[in-house]
Amino acid sequence: MPVVYIHIPFCKQRCKYCDFNSYAGLDPFHGPYVRALLSEINFQALRLDDIDAPSIYIGGGTPTLLNPLYMDALLAEVYRWFSVSDAAEVTIEANPETVTKEKLVQLRRAGVNRLSIGFQSLDDGLLKLLGRKHSAQQAVSAFKDAREAGFNNVNIDLIFGIPGQSLAGWAVTLEQAASLDPEHISCYGLTVEPGTLLEREIAAGKLQVPDEDLQADMFAYTMGSLAESGFEHYEISNYAKSGRRCRHNLVYWDNGDYIGFGAGAHSKIGSKRFYNTANPKEYIESIGARGASISEITDLSTGNMISETIFLGLRKIEGLDLKSFEARFGRSVYDIYSAQIAKLAEDGLLEQDNGSLRLTDKGILLGNEVFSRFI
Ligand code: SF4
Repeated sequence: MPVVYIHIPFCKQRCKYCDFNSYAGLDPFHGPYVRALLSEINFQALRLDDIDAPSIYIGGGTPTLLNPLYMDALLAEVYRWFSVSDAAEVTIEANPETVTKEKLVQLRRAGVNRLSIGFQSLDDGLLKLLGRKHSAQQAVSAFKDAREAGFNNVNIDLIFGIPGQSLAGWAVTLEQAASLDPEHISCYGLTVEPGTLLEREIAAGKLQVPDEDLQADMFAYTMGSLAESGFEHYEISNYAKSGRRCRHNLVYWDNGDYIGFGAGAHSKIGSKRFYNTANPKEYIESIGARGASISEITDLSTGNMISETIFLGLRKIEGLDLKSFEARFGRSVYDIYSAQIAKLAEDGLLEQDNGSLRLTDKGILLGNEVFSRFI
């Protein structure tokens, strides 16, 4: 059962920290790109053995930059070729400055039932520093508009560890976001990616990222504060009200199958992983010429699958289910990684609990160090 991902690579302008596959200034390509997506959905679906899709996720870029009529067409094409149940989760990512109540109503009518709004911060100074195109007030208005449009499943994306951000400032943003009573909050530590404007400004000494201790304090504060507000911490960066975990992303963390459409989209079906051409113009051309735009196919070895299943599973706070792992690979995780697990347990980073192998509180803060031992 592959989940379906559709990538919309267009943005109004590039945020300073962004290294996603997104492009500003390509408005004339919206129509041709959507037409290419429609062809690709048709082309690939005919080649899949399993067309049961439990969720659809439209991400970007900024999907809400497109006319909602395009979303109508895209979702209709997915429904035409895939078997999507009435209970399927259908998410779209939105940036505050690109939505209006009318647009959100149209998206609800098109079948979108979950909205993920990129707030990133509720501090106007930090939003500007990140190169975001919206204010805190616009973010809050977008959330209220979403409620009025009938969205009862809304995620708010936030970033901590921004240059100049204090723990007290982060606490205010977090509390203001939680007070809106969303169903889900994602909190990501800022990563300074190579080649971004943010990296250049930091290298030039114009900005300074908070030190590791402050970032760890912000993470620890997040866990405590959102628990008090009634959110379950279920993945390193994700918090949800009861029953509102993101079903689409849970498939990724369970190392399940996904089919991605659009420029740069990734897919994993069984032991095959494939990637589409990242550049939207090249993507449109190759879909026109060949029906597909796959630039690379990898055959995953059992070793690759085991290692990915472990480190993705450990991202979940409940951890890696040991019985499911054994049923999937015919071996216990201890047969393969006993020395690594023993060392990580000795260092207080991993523990076994209720049939799961999971990160301790200390391990959650040092997740990347733990994952690197399983690669
Ligand atoms: S809105 Fe998102 S995808 Fe677009 S430039 Fe900003 S961070 Fe990147």
